Amino acid sequence: MAFLYLSAATSSNITTQNHGTCMRAYPYDFALFHPGYFCSTCRFAKPARSKHCPICKACVQRQDHHCIWINNCVGRNNYLWFNLLIVATAALLAYGARLGYVLLDARLQERLVPSALTRGSVSSKRWSTGLSWAEYWHCWAWAISVEWRVGSVMMLTMLSFPLATGFLVYHAYLVWAGMTTNESAKWSDWREDIRDDLVYRARISQLRETYPKLPDDVEPRDEDIRSPWPRGARAKWWLVRMVDGRQPTLRKKGENGKEGVGEGAGNEGNEEVPDERWAKVHSLREVDNVYDLGFWANLKDSMLNRG
Ligand SMILES: [Zn+2]
Ligand SMILES: [Zn+2]
Repeated sequence: MAFLYLSAATSSNITTQNHGTCMRAYPYDFALFHPGYFCSTCRFAKPARSKHCPICKACVQRQDHHCIWINNCVGRNNYLWFNLLIVATAALLAYGARLGYVLLDARLQERLVPSALTRGSVSSKRWSTGLSWAEYWHCWAWAISVEWRVGSVMMLTMLSFPLATGFLVYHAYLVWAGMTTNESAKWSDWREDIRDDLVYRARISQLRETYPKLPDDVEPRDEDIRSPWPRGARAKWWLVRMVDGRQPTLRKKGENGKEGVGEGAGNEGNEEVPDERWAKVHSLREVDNVYDLGFWANLKDSMLNRG
């Protein structure tokens, strides 16, 4: 109940007050999160790993998913509580199922092999010995209907246990892979686009000549990314998806001497040439996940790096 309360009551929303620190919590990976995008509702520059939630009516830091059970977004500040909640829920369900089984099994033993007859001898047989499967389940149906309060709770916990455990295993996998639920969906979009030959990458250091860094409040400087995020974990590659699958182009030097893309470049006499800095990505394996620091570091970051 404590973890349920903490999960539901802890907000990871981005506000005017905390927007600056949210921007400096994680670096942009230039794959799933690029600098220079603004939330059309909140009017904030979108921090890396954030997502706007229409139900919470806010941008949410390191948004994982909106959870209907806690009526709140699972994000940077309550991911710890959410995970403790599913651990506790899975443990309680396992305990409930086991307890119900033990109680009803004892009831069946008492009914079918009464201790009055066996005098509690340890060598007395189990009630299920020698029964066919049909008879075995028939006995259980009897026990559940006679002890319906214990029986119904036992069935509920047995059926719900795999759900909670599945959730737990999935989040353990996400931590291992250094992803949020939101990011795992984005990665599968990229996987599809790579398969469709639409994706190119280029070294950020090379691209900076043509695409200079944005202002600090929209794209924080690398050295301003806040600890505990490690200094070395920064994006090296810039990923783009091209709708037509063709290599990005660069405007060749025209007669007016201007180079580059955008409004600054003159149109007359300029010619679009393939930009050789961009190379096609053939597999998701060629792409780094900047947010994956290794299992233990991911675990520490996802649970303890809170705003
Ligand atoms: Zn928003
Ligand atoms: Zn939400």
